Amino acid sequence: MSRVYNFSAGPAQLPLEVLQQAQGEMLDWHHTGMSLMEIPHRSENFEKLAASIEQDLRDLLDIPSDYSVLFLHGGGRTQFAMVPMNLAQGYSSMAYVNTGVWSELAFEEAKRYGHAHVAACASKNNYLDLPLAPEWDLPADAAYVHYTDNETIQGIEYPAIPEISKLPLITDMSSNLLSKLIDVKKFGLIYACAQKNLGIAGITVVIIRKDLLERTPFDFTPSMLRYAVHAKDKSLYNTPATYPWYLTGLVFNWIKQQGGVAKMAEHNQRKAAKLYKMIDNSDFYTNKINPLCRSKMNVVFQLHDEALNQKFLADANKHGLINLKGHRIVGGMRASIYNAMPEKGVDALIEFMRDFERTA
Ligand code: PMP
Repeated sequence: MSRVYNFSAGPAQLPLEVLQQAQGEMLDWHHTGMSLMEIPHRSENFEKLAASIEQDLRDLLDIPSDYSVLFLHGGGRTQFAMVPMNLAQGYSSMAYVNTGVWSELAFEEAKRYGHAHVAACASKNNYLDLPLAPEWDLPADAAYVHYTDNETIQGIEYPAIPEISKLPLITDMSSNLLSKLIDVKKFGLIYACAQKNLGIAGITVVIIRKDLLERTPFDFTPSMLRYAVHAKDKSLYNTPATYPWYLTGLVFNWIKQQGGVAKMAEHNQRKAAKLYKMIDNSDFYTNKINPLCRSKMNVVFQLHDEALNQKFLADANKHGLINLKGHRIVGGMRASIYNAMPEKGVDALIEFMRDFERTA
């Protein structure tokens, strides 16, 4: 078996131990004589599994009891709609901090449900720097303020959780939840699709302060898109994505075994620091983002000579370093180095980049 280092932004590389465990349990999960995929979601077995996965996430992030944890369908993009649908009724506006592709898509979706106000925008800095909370323009009567903690495409990440006291703070952490310690109490709602740091595509994690469940969504909001319905039914309102849920649970367990989120953060910090250092010390590669706002998850870089892009990617592939092509909007390269990317993978990339620089 030969496994590559997969630098894809998502679906992304999974820990080998998780894949092996899933493989070992594929035909007979916990001596049931069935695979997990064949187990009814309303069985005691599945309900127990779901409860223990929720507890693991609560332990990993120290989630207080006045927050509900939901495992939903529909990915990050469904949250772009669910947030305004559930939380904005009766308010004159919703505030959005636009810092890149994903926050701008969330903003565009919110406009369908009310007045979405731009609290701040990174376009004037060419998405190379982030507007920090003191610069945000927040209407006092807005329903909430939404921001994207890590912009997966632009490769920018908030260096600290914004301090907001007057409005519920809502964040999209699709590409960095569980990569660093966060204080959940600072948020009204956190959401993340799973296919990057958490598990596999098909499940979306939502952590919501319980008082926000009381906000009445628009009458025509489908039951499947109401947070309160899912909270009441412990995310078992309809048939959930049982296998992605289970796999996400295996990843939570793996993070616990690695020493928890603090250890992950240390590891991620080290991996990102050495890759950025290599880029900064070279005249061949470049990253123009303010160093304070560089993503520890998605390291974007350009070759000074863009004519070498195709050769760079082809040679990297030959070395088992795959999916390094940057998003078409930004161009250049992007190395996504989520929790499951071992340090050895980053070392191999750095070594390859040095060799390529010498020989190209
Ligand atoms: N938000 C962010 C920050 C993302 O990176 C992505 C996916 N790359 C999304 C939202 C959209 O997620 P999905 O494709 O699951 O709808």
